[in-house]
Amino acid sequence: MADVLPNDYVAVMGELQRLAGALDRHPAAVDRIGWWWYPEHRKRPPVATDGVYVILLDTAIVLFNSGHDRLELTLNVAWCSALTVNAAVEVACWCPQDHNMHQVRSESWTVDTSHDLADGFAAGTTMLTNVLDSGRFDPGAWRLTAGLPDAPPQAR
Ligand SMILES: [Zn+2]
Repeated sequence: MADVLPNDYVAVMGELQRLAGALDRHPAAVDRIGWWWYPEHRKRPPVATDGVYVILLDTAIVLFNSGHDRLELTLNVAWCSALTVNAAVEVACWCPQDHNMHQVRSESWTVDTSHDLADGFAAGTTMLTNVLDSGRFDPGAWRLTAGLPDAPPQAR
């Protein structure tokens, strides 16, 4: 994490590592979680325009994967117009037009200070932990709640 955190935020590295470690060790996440780091994105992009989304680090926890259908939890720290923590529940798309994945729950926290980063990361890991605790790992149930078309029976 030291390779990827911008200098302004290294003060909270220990806190982020603690939160990430707790997520790693969650019984429902063990063996399903992956982390990716992008040290080349450590520096704030020169032109931070809306819509630009440069990921510093991200994680995915794949809770369901049948080969056709999928449910995963994602969390990332990225340069958007500002530094942002983003967390989401994502399910495979079964619309007539393929969108690949849909975010059926998502939240973002804009970061200014290192405290904001620790707070946003804590809020994001809490959101993911709540889903891990809930045992709601059926992508069809999430699609139903979100009003999205569900997978055909043969794909489940
Ligand atoms: Zn779709």
